[in-house]
Amino acid sequence: MLSNEEARLNALHQLHVLDTQPSEGFDRITRMASHIFQAPIAAVSLTDQDRQWFKSRVGVEHSSIPRDGAPCAAVAESTGMVVVPDLLADPCYADSLLARSGIRFYAGAPLVTREGYGLGSLCVLDTQPRQAKPADLAALSDLAGMVMSQFELEYSLGRVDQLSGLPNRLQFLEDMEKLAETHPEEPRVLVLIDIAHTDQISRGVRAMGISFIDEIVKETAQVIRDSMIRKRPIYHVSTTQFAILAPEEMEQDAYLELLGATMAHLRENSQFRFLLTAALGVAPFVTGRMTPDNILRAANSAAQDARSSETQISVYSPAMDQMHRRRFDLLNDFGAALAQPGQLRLVFQPRIDLATGQCVGAEALLRWAHPRLGAIAPDEFIPVVEQSRLSKPITDWVLDTALSQLSRWQARGMDISLSVNISAINLLESDFVERVKACLAGHHVQPGKLELEVTESAMMQKSDYARTQLQALRAVGVCLAIDDFGTGYSSLAYLQQLPAQVVKVDRAFMRGIEDCERERSLVRSLISLSQDLGYRVVAEGVETAMAAEVLVEMKCDEAQGYFFARPLEAEDFVDWLIAHRQLHPVILGPACAEPALLSA
Ligand code: C2E
Ligand code: MG
Ligand code: MG
Repeated sequence: MLSNEEARLNALHQLHVLDTQPSEGFDRITRMASHIFQAPIAAVSLTDQDRQWFKSRVGVEHSSIPRDGAPCAAVAESTGMVVVPDLLADPCYADSLLARSGIRFYAGAPLVTREGYGLGSLCVLDTQPRQAKPADLAALSDLAGMVMSQFELEYSLGRVDQLSGLPNRLQFLEDMEKLAETHPEEPRVLVLIDIAHTDQISRGVRAMGISFIDEIVKETAQVIRDSMIRKRPIYHVSTTQFAILAPEEMEQDAYLELLGATMAHLRENSQFRFLLTAALGVAPFVTGRMTPDNILRAANSAAQDARSSETQISVYSPAMDQMHRRRFDLLNDFGAALAQPGQLRLVFQPRIDLATGQCVGAEALLRWAHPRLGAIAPDEFIPVVEQSRLSKPITDWVLDTALSQLSRWQARGMDISLSVNISAINLLESDFVERVKACLAGHHVQPGKLELEVTESAMMQKSDYARTQLQALRAVGVCLAIDDFGTGYSSLAYLQQLPAQVVKVDRAFMRGIEDCERERSLVRSLISLSQDLGYRVVAEGVETAMAAEVLVEMKCDEAQGYFFARPLEAEDFVDWLIAHRQLHPVILGPACAEPALLSA
C-alpha cells in the first residue's frame, strides 16, 4: 500500500501544476486573502516532496522555500487550519526560516482535494504578532475552497477521470507532446494495461449491471497505484485501459520483468481475479518520431496481441499491427464497396458432370477490386467481413447478382444451375429463408436451380437453429452443398443429420490423388461413402487431366477446377460454354450439339 504521504504527493503531481506560470485566477484570490487580513504577505503554497512551491504570492520574492519547518507543510499534512499568532512564541516555529526572516504571524487554510488529500495551504503572514478573528479565518477557509475550484478549472477540468482520479487520455496526449519537445530523440517505452477482455466485461455488466465497470476500474487503478510502477505517472486512457510511461533509465528486459510482477500483483489483488484477465501491451518508441496517438495505438495493438500469448504480455510487433490495420481497413472499406457500383463483381467457375463431360452448373465466386489496394482475394476479406454485421448485405448482394445473371442466362436458353457460397452466420438470421425465397421470385428462378454452399467447419460450429434453417431452405426446394468437405473433421454420423444433397471434396485432397496411393484410397472411400449416404459428390480443385481421369475412374459425380476452367467473367463464361459446345442447340446450331468430353 502507498503511505498517505506518497498518495498525497501522487495527487499533487497528477495535477501537473508545479512549476507552472503564475495565473491571474489564483493571484486574485491571494490578493483578496491579503486584503481581508490586512496582511502584507499571502500565498497559495503547495507542499512538494521537500519544498513549498508558490503558485501565487503577494509580498514574497521567492517562488519556493524549504518544506522543513514550514507551517504550510503542517497544514497540508493535517488537512486542518493552522494559526500561529506569534512564531517566536511557538516552540515549533521559533527557530524556523520564516521566524528568522522576520515573520511573526501565520494563518493557513488547507487546500484539500475531493479525495481528501492536502495539497498545501492558502496562507497569510504578517511581520507583527496578532490574533486572528474567527470571521477572517472562515473567509480564509472559503478562499481556500475557491483555490481548489480554480485548480479544477485550470488543471484538471476535463483532464482527470472522475472515477479513477487519474489523468485521462487528453492529459496523456498533451504530456507526450511536451515530452517530445523537452526530450527529443530519446528511446522510451509506453505500457498499456487492458483490464479485461471485452467478453469478460460484457459478461460482468450483464450479471452485475453497469456499475461493474466502475468497480473494476476503481479497483485496478488502486492496484496499479499500489504496485511497483506506482512512481510513474499513470493515465486512464480509455474506460478499461491504463497507460504508464516506463522509467527512462530502465532497460526493456528489466522493465518486462517488472511488468511480469505487476501482472502477478494485479492477478493476486483483484476481487475479480477469477473473472478478469488483464493484458499488457509494450510499445517502445523514440520521442518525437511518432505522434502520441500512434504510440497509444501501438501499445493497444500489442495489448490485443498479448491476449493470445501465454504471459498476457506482448511487445509491439509492426507485422502483426500491419495485419490488423489491413483487416480493419478492409472491413472499413468493404461497406463502401457494397454501396458503390464497380468494386465488387462475380466470376463463374464451370462445374462438369464427369459422366457426360457437360457443364451442368457454375459456382459464383466474389471478387473485390479495391480502389487503392487492388485485387483482394476472398480468402482474405470474407473471413474479416463475415464477423461483422456486413455478412448479411454481402450475401444479399451475391445472391441478387448471381440470380440476376442466372435469369439472363436462362433467358438465352442456358440450362445450368448456380452455386452461391453463404456464410454460416447467415443461417442464424431469422429472415434468411424468406430473403432467399424473395430473391428467387424476384428473378423468376426455380429454387432447384440455386445451390447454397456452406463450409463443413462452419456448419459444425453452428447451432440446431442453423440446421432448422437448412431444413427450411430444403423445403423451399433449394439445393444445399457441404463445401470444403474433409477439412472440418466432422463425423459421418453428423453428416447424415444435415439436409444437404451435395458434398464438395476439398481441393487439398486433389494434390495427392495422382501419385499417392494412400491419398487416392482415402478419396475413393470418401466418395463412395458419401454416395452411399445419398450425396452427389463434387471434387474441387481439379488441376490436371490425370486427376480428372482418376476421379472418373472413382465414379465421382462432378468436378470443378483449373483443368476445366478458371473462374471466368460472366461474358467469358458464355464464350467458354460456346467454345465447349455446351449451349443449347437452338443457339449454337445443330453442328455443335454433341457434348465435349474430358478432352477439354
Ligand atoms: P470455395 O467455395 O471452396 O471456392 C473454391 C475456391 O477454389 C475458389 O477460390 C476457386 O477460385 C479456387 N479454385 C477453383 N479451382 C481451383 C484449382 O484447380 N486449383 C486451385 N488451387 N484453386 C481452385 P476463391 O475464388 O479465391 O474463393 C475462396 C473462398 O472464398 C471460397 O472457397 C469461398 O469459401 C469463399 N468465397 C468466395 N466467394 C464467396 C462469396 O460470394 N460468399 C462467401 N460467403 N464466400 C465466398
Ligand atoms: Mg464454394
Ligand atoms: Mg471449397
